[in-house]
Amino acid sequence: MTQGARSRRLFRKANEVATDDERCTVVHRYEPFYNLVDGELRAGAHKGAAINPATEARIALYHIADARLVDCAVRAAQAAFESWARTSLQSRRALLVRLRQCIQAQSEDLATLLTLEQGKPLAEAREEIAAAVALFAYYEGVRSERSDALFDEAFADHQRMYAPLGVVAGIVPWNFPFLIAVMKIAPALLTGNVIIIKPSPTTPLTTLAFARIAADAAPRGVLQVLGDDGGVGPLLTAHPGVRKVAFTGSTQTGRKVMAAGAETLKRLTLELGGNDAALVLADADIETTAAQIYSAAFSNAGQICGAAKRIYVANEILPAFSSALAVHVNAARVGDGLCDGVTIGPLQNRAQYQKAKRLMSKASACGAIIAQARAPLGKGFFVPPTLFTGLDETSDLVREEQFAPLAPILSFQGEDEVVSRANASPYGLTASVWSSNAERARAIATQLDAALVCVNKHNESPFELGVAMSKQSGVGWLLGEEGLLEFLQPRLVMA
Ligand code: NDP
Repeated sequence: MTQGARSRRLFRKANEVATDDERCTVVHRYEPFYNLVDGELRAGAHKGAAINPATEARIALYHIADARLVDCAVRAAQAAFESWARTSLQSRRALLVRLRQCIQAQSEDLATLLTLEQGKPLAEAREEIAAAVALFAYYEGVRSERSDALFDEAFADHQRMYAPLGVVAGIVPWNFPFLIAVMKIAPALLTGNVIIIKPSPTTPLTTLAFARIAADAAPRGVLQVLGDDGGVGPLLTAHPGVRKVAFTGSTQTGRKVMAAGAETLKRLTLELGGNDAALVLADADIETTAAQIYSAAFSNAGQICGAAKRIYVANEILPAFSSALAVHVNAARVGDGLCDGVTIGPLQNRAQYQKAKRLMSKASACGAIIAQARAPLGKGFFVPPTLFTGLDETSDLVREEQFAPLAPILSFQGEDEVVSRANASPYGLTASVWSSNAERARAIATQLDAALVCVNKHNESPFELGVAMSKQSGVGWLLGEEGLLEFLQPRLVMA
C-alpha cells in the first residue's frame, strides 16, 4: 500500500476511530524501535510501552537504554568526534542534506506516527515534520559563501578559531518531539559536534523511527538516539564525557540539568517554560486578533512553550473581544488526531492531563467559563478547550504555565499597569501586543521583558534571527548564528 493510501485510510471521519490493524501498517514499518548506538540498531535491557493519548491503547514497545548502553553511546560518540570534528564544512552540510532527505522520503508515515504517539491532529503533525525539513534546509544554507569554516577569522597578528565542543546530549520533551530533536541535531552536526538524542519516554517513537531511517546516513557514533523510561536524562547530564547539554523542557527540570552539569562545568542551552502574555489594546481589530490569539493559545492543545497563556484585554473592548474569541473556542473539534475535521487532540500524557484537570477545576471555582468546546468522554486524555474570565493574578491558571487548552482572559485599564502585570512573572519567553496603531504597539512591546516580543502576531520569528532565552525561561541562544556559536568554543591564536 502506498504512503498516501495508508494515510487516507487512517484519516477518518470525526468520532470514527482508526482500527488497530490500520495503525499497525504504519507502526510495523519501523518496528522494532531500537536504540541507535555506534551506527547499529541495539536492543535495550528492557522495553517500554508507547501509549496513544487519544485511546490510551498501546501503540508499540520500544527499547530502553540502561546505564551500560548510555556509557557505550558516550564512548562511541567520543571516538566518532575525533574524526568528525576534522571533516570539512561541505561534508557536514552533505550530512544535513542526507538526513533531510531521509525525513522527506517518509514524511507521511512519520507524521502519522507522530499523531499516534503525540496526539496532535494529523495536519499539525505534517506541519511539524515539514518544519523539521525546513530547519535542516536552513542550516544547510547558513553562511553558504563559506567553504572552509563557518566563523573562523584570520588577522595580521591573530586568528580567531571556533572549535566544536565534543559530545552533545540533546534532551527533548513531548510537545514537539521531532522538531525539537532536529533543532538540536542540525546545529550540533553542522558545527562538527556529535550528538546523543534522548526523547521523552512518552514520545519516543518518531525519533527512534528516524534513527532507523538515518542509521546508514551518518558516520557511526556521530548521531545516536537512546530510548528512555526516566533514567537516561540524569545519566547523560552527569556523564563526564558529555561536554554540552541542549535541553528543552520544564524550568524545574532545567534547574536539575544545570545542577548535574555543574560538576564538570558543562556548556548548557536551556529552553524552558513560559507564561506568555498577549496584550490586546483597545484599538485592536477584534475579529482578526481573536482568530490569531485563538491559534496562539490553543494550537497543539496549548502545549507550546511560547503559546499565549495570559490574555490581557483592554476594558473598553472586553465584552466584544471575549465574544469573538469564544466563537473560535466553541467551534473547536476535539478528538483523535487521525480523525477528519479534528482541530484539537488530547493532551500528550496522563500527568499533563491530571495537571490540566486540576487547573480547570480550580479556575472554574474562582472564575467563570465564557466558552467551552465539547470533548469526547471515556478513554483518552481529552480536555475541552475552555476560556475563563474573572480570575486574578494569584489564580493558579494565571500564575502557572498551563500547557493545556485553557486560557484566562484578564482585563486591564492602563498601559503602564498591564506592562507591569505582564512582566511580573518569573518567566520571560514570549509576549505580544495587538493594536491597529503599530507605533503605539511597538512602544509597548519594547517594555515587555521577554525573549521574543511580537506585534500583531505571537511567537513568530524567522530561523535566522535567533532568540536568546531570558529570566527563568532559559539560558543561551536558539537558532540564528548566535545559536550555532552555542555549539562552538572560540579560541584566540596569537601569531
Ligand atoms: P520535563 O521537563 O520533566 O521533561 C522534559 C525532558 O526532560 C524529558 O525528556 C524528560 O525525560 C527529561 N528529564 C526529566 N528529568 C530529567 C533530569 N533530571 N535530567 C535530565 N533529563 C530529565 O517535563 P514534564 O514532562 O515533567 O512536563 C512538566 C511541565 O513542563 C509541563 O506541564 C509544562 O508546563 C512544562 N514543559 C515545557 C516544555 C517546553 O517546551 N518549554 C516542554 C515540556 C514540558 P524523563 O521524563 O525521562 O525524565
